[in-house]
Amino acid sequence: MTPTLKRPLRLLLLSTSVGALGSGLGGGVELTLHNLAQALSLRGHTVKIVAPTGSVCANFPLVEIEGTLQPTAQSEGRHAAIAMPANAVLANMWAYAREVEHQYDLLVNFAYDWLPFYLTPFFARPIAHLVSMGSLTDAMDRVIAQTIVQSPNSIGVHSRAQADTFSFGDECQVLGNGFDLSLYDFNPQPERSLAWVGRLAPEKGLEDAVAAAQATQRPLKIWGVLQDQGYWQQIQQQYSTAPMTYEGFLPTAQLQSALGKCQALLMTPHWVEAFGNVAIEALACGVPVIAYRRGGPAEIVQDGKTGWLVEPDSLTGLVDAIARLDQIDRYTCRQQAEATYSLAAMGDRVEQWFTAVLAQFHG
Ligand code: UDP
Repeated sequence: MTPTLKRPLRLLLLSTSVGALGSGLGGGVELTLHNLAQALSLRGHTVKIVAPTGSVCANFPLVEIEGTLQPTAQSEGRHAAIAMPANAVLANMWAYAREVEHQYDLLVNFAYDWLPFYLTPFFARPIAHLVSMGSLTDAMDRVIAQTIVQSPNSIGVHSRAQADTFSFGDECQVLGNGFDLSLYDFNPQPERSLAWVGRLAPEKGLEDAVAAAQATQRPLKIWGVLQDQGYWQQIQQQYSTAPMTYEGFLPTAQLQSALGKCQALLMTPHWVEAFGNVAIEALACGVPVIAYRRGGPAEIVQDGKTGWLVEPDSLTGLVDAIARLDQIDRYTCRQQAEATYSLAAMGDRVEQWFTAVLAQFHG
């Protein structure tokens, strides 16, 4: 095993450039960055965060950077060229990092964007990249592959399934994720409703959960940022009689309280979900997870113990799993979150990763 860090580090965490922290547009990366900052500062490391203007990140020093947000990579297509808006916030964030890098021991990149990978060898300090999605475009695959050759160990991912979408998957550090579980209340007595939580965007496959709600006539509560309005309108038209309600985008405290009242969380992504923060948030509240056997959720859910894994894209599979929810013990769900996805567990894994990055860099 890699030895753990012997001294506190000065860390600069560079956020995603597709949205301000707190907006929800950054998806799971927003919570991941906050949780990682917490896990690391609990261990005595010093953390500063760089993020687009308008960001909110309680308890940590934050440098807000002006500029135009990056387009999201999910819907661009495999052969998409790299896009860089005029006055790009991404470029501005990394120009700032270049100015201050000597004040830090390690920079941590959370953006799934070409520029930070490309810039890695031009920096005087090591950069660790926490990659938040699987393979989406050839240009990103190529630049991450080059980075791993130049800086072995520098690529962290959230799940094995995510790593395996890349040709260099074996060389990625699989880190899972970690959460402040004290913020999530265990709820032993749910109501009849089901939950769906995520960005409302095609890759997240909300329509499958809605179809399952319609088929079972169970109320479905939906939380998340309305990222693609047209997509949501289409679902509403197609399933106009489904018992569903859109509950908005809530801060963690309110989300967990409402989510805890649900009988299960449905995760129906059409892509290889890199991890699925919402799976752990549900488990932490004692809410079983019904997920397609694909991507990160398939590595999280313990089939028949903390939820059900069903054949991807199968409506019958979802309906059958909903019928078997009474076989799942909600307390076992909470216990799984505590055993593997606490801040302390994530802190251990990330410190080992940083140790490897620094050892490689300094020789
Ligand atoms: N989320 C939230 N409030 C809501 C709905 C979602 O804060 O009302 C957050 C949730 O906590 C999670 C993120 O949105 O961290 C979704 O991340 P996930 O990893 O599940 O998917 P991604 O959006 O990254 O594909």
